[in-house]
Amino acid sequence: MLYECIFPEMRNRIFEMMGSSIEEIGAFDFGGPGDIWDTRRHWNCCPACRSEFPSLPAVLEQAGRQMDQVFAASLWVMKDRFLARKASLAKARSAVNAYPAMIAELAHAEELVHEELVHVLGTATTLYKGEETE
Ligand SMILES: [Zn+2]
Repeated sequence: MLYECIFPEMRNRIFEMMGSSIEEIGAFDFGGPGDIWDTRRHWNCCPACRSEFPSLPAVLEQAGRQMDQVFAASLWVMKDRFLARKASLAKARSAVNAYPAMIAELAHAEELVHEELVHVLGTATTLYKGEETE
């Protein structure tokens, strides 16, 4: 017996994703990890979509690995920027005066890194495991 999709808009989104390349999905053409999670959650709940698109989890896992590379590259850029900023602060001021500014920069960098890591965690749970974040 054939099932009917419980939410055809989501079915169309999956259909479009399955017709796209891993690179397009991994480049966030279909949204970030949260949007992908909506798709994956629908797939988990919808017998029609599970039957029509059995390879969706494998495709999303591959796309997730690509997203990981994007986040890793972004973290490297942040590290390079921080080190450059630290070097310029040390050059511009005496060592004692440079420390407060460096600490402030470090706190700011930590915030940015934290945000990026939240995305990475979201990618891992939503795309690899198909689980809800939080
Ligand atoms: Zn469906």
